[in-house]
Amino acid sequence: MTLLGVDVGGTYIKWALLDGDAVAGSGVVSTPPGPDETVALVASLAVRGVESVGIGLPGHVDRETGTALFVPNPPGDWDGYPVGPRLSALTGTPVAVVNDARAFALAELLLGAARGLPDVLFTVLGTGVGGAVAARGAILVGPRDNLGEIGHVTVDPWGAPCCCGGRGCVETFAGGPAIVRAFGSGPPEAVAAAARAGDGRAIEVLARAGWALGVALGDAASLLGAGAVVVGGGVAGALDLMSSALHAELERRRPLIGDIAVLPAILGPMAGAIGAALYGRRSS
Ligand SMILES: [Zn+2]
Repeated sequence: MTLLGVDVGGTYIKWALLDGDAVAGSGVVSTPPGPDETVALVASLAVRGVESVGIGLPGHVDRETGTALFVPNPPGDWDGYPVGPRLSALTGTPVAVVNDARAFALAELLLGAARGLPDVLFTVLGTGVGGAVAARGAILVGPRDNLGEIGHVTVDPWGAPCCCGGRGCVETFAGGPAIVRAFGSGPPEAVAAAARAGDGRAIEVLARAGWALGVALGDAASLLGAGAVVVGGGVAGALDLMSSALHAELERRRPLIGDIAVLPAILGPMAGAIGAALYGRRSS
């Protein structure tokens, strides 16, 4: 049984073909200028033998109807676009439309760092900061596929404005652009390299990112209960530089939340595409 999973980002689309639980093929292409072109591209990836398609979008979706609700980052006007029906008409297969962070989390839960763990918080550090919650072995969904937005938990009510309308969200400390802005130059990998070379400013910026993550994850663990946290995404390469401040916040809450393991994601950049494919399997 071959499953296609696609992870749509603002700049790139990542895709993976799953044969059972094994990745049989994968690739990266540039994101086309709009949803019509994106759906056509994804349909062209659904080679013969593909039995279902899962597509992860960076935003909120209606899983029942396969409609994009709030997908601001990829080019074009996605909001209200019937991704699932259009793609299903082109491929002749069932299509699952899901949030990209929830797709990442399902992949890491079933096949990656959180395998076998029942209650887990997930966070994906990239341009934005996404998240997800697993309870008793299932990823929670919410009414707009919006449950788990750890990146938009407020850690400083007087902090910088965030794209979500809030202020001082985790994303304004730990998102890639926030890290670059606070340091004064980028990309985030260069900030991490500077910190490793002993640059005090870079060390401080990444410690602040870790502090913000620790506050939000600690509070989320208080609210929801969790035994582990999985951290992935492009900026997670700097997790070791954030981890002391992150752990300090979890440790502070230890009487309430107990021991929480902080685990790096292990499936790499294709986790979102793999998770989307797994959601497709569930829908078929
Ligand atoms: Zn926000």
